[in-house]
Amino acid sequence: MLQYIQIFSSLNKGIASFADDFLSLLFPRTCEICDNSLYKSEELICTYCLGRLPYTHWHKDIDNPLHAVFWGKISLLGLTAMFYFHKDNIVQKLMHKFKYKGVRELGIYVGKRYGMQLKDVFPFKDVDLIIPVPLHPKKQKMRGYNQSEQFAIGLAQSMNITVVSNNLFRKTESETQTKKTKIERWENVKDIFNVAEKEELEGKHILLVDDVITTGSTLEACASILLAIPRVQISVAAIAAAHR
Ligand SMILES: [Zn+2]
Repeated sequence: MLQYIQIFSSLNKGIASFADDFLSLLFPRTCEICDNSLYKSEELICTYCLGRLPYTHWHKDIDNPLHAVFWGKISLLGLTAMFYFHKDNIVQKLMHKFKYKGVRELGIYVGKRYGMQLKDVFPFKDVDLIIPVPLHPKKQKMRGYNQSEQFAIGLAQSMNITVVSNNLFRKTESETQTKKTKIERWENVKDIFNVAEKEELEGKHILLVDDVITTGSTLEACASILLAIPRVQISVAAIAAAHR
């Protein structure tokens, strides 16, 4: 009898794996960057593309060139971005899928991978909590999610800390940023963030998380509000930053 059960169960496993293979024939999972089919062990991005992504390794360099964006403006403990962002590189394709094609899992996935590296490196290893840069509620409703929050969720899983998404919030709708001068852009964002529960953040080392760092004005506005809370320290991590 036992023998029959064993044969039956291995047959069952065989059928399950056959069904898996059959499904993947009908609905092949493909790499979000190069569109080639993924192996069973691969998730969202193929091994080849993971290897050719332009990593900055800035988390290992406390004086990395990204700091120039915030010099004389705000004081940050740690600052890093996972990838270089160029108009024509594969990171742009990745961000496009992530922001506009609704592939929200991508943010969590890259966040998890980056969190594995940040959790062992000063000052990121001493972070108490993560706050994603808030998206305007209207925009979030349209997109269905805040891309910075997805990245934050992935980071938090690997770093074993919590994400606080509802404390820092956006007050008014900011107009589109692309056609504005640097000063107009800053005027536009400097007053749009506020904190609901300041006491909750007192004395905390906060990892502020954004998707792409370009002018840095949004992050600067968020950090300024947070740094007004007693004994708060800020580090920043983004998925990508314009190459400097
Ligand atoms: Zn690929």
